[in-house]
Amino acid sequence: MQRADCCAIVGAMATTKTIDIRTEIPGPRSREIIERKERVVAEPLSLTFPIVIERGEGATLTDVDGNTFIDFTGGVGCLNVGHSHPRVVEAAQDQLERFSHTDFTIVPYEVYVNLAERLCELAPITNAKAAFFNAGTEAVENAIKFARSHTKRPAVIAFEGGFHGRTLLALSLTSKTHPYKAGLGPFAPEVYRMPFPYEYRGVTAGEALAALERALVTQVAAESVAALVIEPVQGEGGFVVAPKEFMAGVRRLCDEHGIVMVVDEVQTGLARTGKLFAIEHYGIEPDLITIAKSVAMGLPLSGVIGKAEIMDAPPDSAIGGTYVGNPVAQAAALAVLDVIGEEDLCARASVLGDQLRQRMVTWQERFPQVGDVRGLGAMLAIEIVEGEAKTPAPELASAVTEAAAKQGLLLLKSGIYSNCIRVLTPLTLSDAELDEALAVWESSLEAALG
Ligand code: PLP
Repeated sequence: MQRADCCAIVGAMATTKTIDIRTEIPGPRSREIIERKERVVAEPLSLTFPIVIERGEGATLTDVDGNTFIDFTGGVGCLNVGHSHPRVVEAAQDQLERFSHTDFTIVPYEVYVNLAERLCELAPITNAKAAFFNAGTEAVENAIKFARSHTKRPAVIAFEGGFHGRTLLALSLTSKTHPYKAGLGPFAPEVYRMPFPYEYRGVTAGEALAALERALVTQVAAESVAALVIEPVQGEGGFVVAPKEFMAGVRRLCDEHGIVMVVDEVQTGLARTGKLFAIEHYGIEPDLITIAKSVAMGLPLSGVIGKAEIMDAPPDSAIGGTYVGNPVAQAAALAVLDVIGEEDLCARASVLGDQLRQRMVTWQERFPQVGDVRGLGAMLAIEIVEGEAKTPAPELASAVTEAAAKQGLLLLKSGIYSNCIRVLTPLTLSDAELDEALAVWESSLEAALG
């Protein structure tokens, strides 16, 4: 090849590249802001990446030093439609100019009703009603309130590896001790924790279901249980997918004993798994669904969607709060639903998921430390282990994510042992960006795992 041709090819490739790293990571401006942060921001708010964002667009994020990254963290799964989607920005701006707040229960607004209508229509629940809040943790807390009012029972069942938030009841349901719970008790009473099926670590669907049935004999009377809270794919727990037969068994037990089945879709929801709601993969109807994160492109909005007779059970004003359904976030959410439909992001999630999984399987074949590849749709993770005993290797996982960040790809860990590396990329990621991200991920695995 002649030199001129070669340069032309390199030039063409350079223009299609998204990642653009111009400084050492962190760059000088990021470092300066982080130093200021250390002086005035409470220490527990520690940082995963030492970079300070200037702007986000689609699947990319540019820092204050002008470095551009591909963002596989998506603000921890809040950006299924990508950063700053123009449709969503316009809808939120328009609403903000008109009014920003009244408290819906004091002076109501139509955007709340519009969003409730849309979500009740879309959710796989017949005769549904909705209520809105801010964070995922509030949606979970309120789901339990609805269930307790409806059943007049106290107890709640949750699962090992589950994550449901950080306020008291939700934190009591959350199962990872460090860093979330240790030293922060006492926790809310009447929470019972069951094994979650996790084939890779030896818990089958049959065993988990048997343990649940046994617990209703040995731990808590079925007629005392108000709700069972379950993630179809455990998010913080390491993208462990609930098998179909397990979900079907859970539904059967809830029906048998009048227990409200709460499906926590805070992380799985809004197209991430290839369906608008992950529970649609299972062909069962839950009683309540909690949503948050991607519903409003990261603006604080959460909700409970559920069977009308459960949602109507609490007495007047027993559900509420100053910020029950911010109109700006709700206008954004309506635009998010438009974008998911018009850009067919459910189908895109499936395609991305197939491509990611194929590549991850090649890593599993090549690197003994890539112990498991799992997930649903574009909600995929690899689990990093050492040796025959599958010993969790969180430090190796960190070495991979740190190497990736230096090369312009932001990856997030999860898992009860913090040894999984998960994908929460915007679903608007282009094929070229996916290729680029996978190349960086692979070279980071080579660097960290050898
Ligand atoms: N439920 C699930 C499944 C989650 O993944 C999370 C957060 O990661 C929550 C609830 C809590 O949401 P938030 O952090 O918005 O309170």
